[in-house]
Amino acid sequence: MVDELKLMLQQGIQLNNKNVQIQLHSVIADSPARAYIKGIVYLNHCHGCTKCTVEGDYYYKQGHHMSFTSLDAAKRTDEDFRQRKDPDHHKEATPFERLPIDMITKFPVADPLHLFELGIMKRMLKGWQYVLQKYQEKFIFMPLLHTLK
Ligand SMILES: [Zn+2]
Repeated sequence: MVDELKLMLQQGIQLNNKNVQIQLHSVIADSPARAYIKGIVYLNHCHGCTKCTVEGDYYYKQGHHMSFTSLDAAKRTDEDFRQRKDPDHHKEATPFERLPIDMITKFPVADPLHLFELGIMKRMLKGWQYVLQKYQEKFIFMPLLHTLK
């Protein structure tokens, strides 16, 4: 597929006896598939951010999660990616690097499953569940306390 795509990007395709130039707009994939395609570590690795060089901290006692707390890390560039400037970010070479595309901007992070449903939304639901449980414990037993007096 990569070789065919490379040929199409370089030479275009023939359509109604006209040569039509092809551009790759973006590669859409969920986070695990994107990491596999790019040959990089997964999103929960401390070098897993695909857009910047932030290093994450893993928290063992607080719910086993990776947090990326820095907001001023250098942005990743296609040149840095191809030169392996952050070697901990890469797992293996990928055939996609043979394509004349930007290895950073052509792989958008638009993955609601891993960003929201399994990320912040899961934490929010757990938080709301905890608050609701505490609320119910406090106010449901209040009438019972009155009957005890
Ligand atoms: Zn980042």
